[in-house]
Amino acid sequence: MNDFTYKDNALYCENVPVKAIADKFPTPFYLYSYATFMDHFRKIKKAFEAVDPLICFSMKSNSNLSIARALVREGAGLDIVSGGELFKALKVGCPADRIVYASVGKTEAEIESAIRSNILFFNVESVPELIMIDTVSRRLKEKPRVALRVNPDVSADTHEYITTGKKENKFGIDFTTAEDIFDNENKYSNVSLEGIHVHIGSQITDTEPFVKAISKVIEFLEKSAVSVKWLNIGGGFGITYGQEKAKTAEEFASRIIPLVKGKGFRLILEPGRFIIGNAGILVAKVLYIKTTSGGKRFAIVNAGMNDLIRPSLYDAYHEITPVVKLRSETHMYDIVGPICESGDFLGKNRELPELVEDEYLAVMSTGAYGFAMASNYNSRPRPAELLVKNGRVRVIRRAETYKDLISCEKMLKELK
Ligand code: PLP
Repeated sequence: MNDFTYKDNALYCENVPVKAIADKFPTPFYLYSYATFMDHFRKIKKAFEAVDPLICFSMKSNSNLSIARALVREGAGLDIVSGGELFKALKVGCPADRIVYASVGKTEAEIESAIRSNILFFNVESVPELIMIDTVSRRLKEKPRVALRVNPDVSADTHEYITTGKKENKFGIDFTTAEDIFDNENKYSNVSLEGIHVHIGSQITDTEPFVKAISKVIEFLEKSAVSVKWLNIGGGFGITYGQEKAKTAEEFASRIIPLVKGKGFRLILEPGRFIIGNAGILVAKVLYIKTTSGGKRFAIVNAGMNDLIRPSLYDAYHEITPVVKLRSETHMYDIVGPICESGDFLGKNRELPELVEDEYLAVMSTGAYGFAMASNYNSRPRPAELLVKNGRVRVIRRAETYKDLISCEKMLKELK
């Protein structure tokens, strides 16, 4: 479900025409629907209510303060992967006992600040990291909670760059090493070993990979007679980008709940994309229509791979649609950005109503890993983020300026 719908050929975000927003705010911009992401969060909560999980929104998918704060106020925790995300999580008022921290490369300073903040637990990804957490804890005279992130060697049937649970991936600890850690718990006496974490990848549209991974974890716990307080099954619930058929929260829940219910631990989920993916669009303006003698049509727009890298990086498909559908004749277009790379495209070979200069296009389902992965490549200021809630449009991140582009730089006077 999402609240981006057409009424009389005009795209609306909830009850606000997107064209009216684009006429008011400079393009490109990201536009989010509050009702949509709240609905997705509540759908997961309801689907899993039989096991009352802690749902930690994955900040890496979208770390805008307003969005994280809205979800935290609704009862969400946060899944973080860096000191920066910890800073933002605390800033939005997330109770520390609802913050979980994954990442293969936590630095000593990041570990120290997470311990001082008393987060719920670290998802530990290697033995050296566990030793580092134990060492820092001893120095601080603290005893933080940790969960071992295991690598179940399960294929997630998704893009190889977002598959994380195969043995050749850098993430997690194999079962043999995990068993060894549990058997030698006393070696790590400055941490409290309380959970297991497993995250096999992102944009997983089938239930089977989850069933396989969770079953392997449960089998491991039973075989090695290990009991834990927490089982964190990560994120990864896939969404529809237009072509694939994704599962509903109930469908995921109906396969997962029987595996975990009554096992004595509390379940944690870390969804990102499922909550915010379809709740955001990127609105851009057509700058030029370029045709080649070979008969190719390019719609060159004012958003590029620096604003949305998913098509270039993962060959990801995003539906692209006119904000107002005016014409019935259609053509095939490549929708491309202004960046100096042939890989700078938002969509290729798209049949669209004839496009004209200055009209607005919406790149759909860009709420997750959209702005979060944006950069200043080609010295382009990053776009604004806007939020529609109850018919009001609010700026939740202003567009960057040229001044922002140089705010961290120094022009050395002695370099002539
Ligand atoms: N948890 C962990 C450890 C992750 O690495 C990710 C993303 O890759 C997520 C949660 C969120 O994944 P998704 O946005 O697919 O739900």
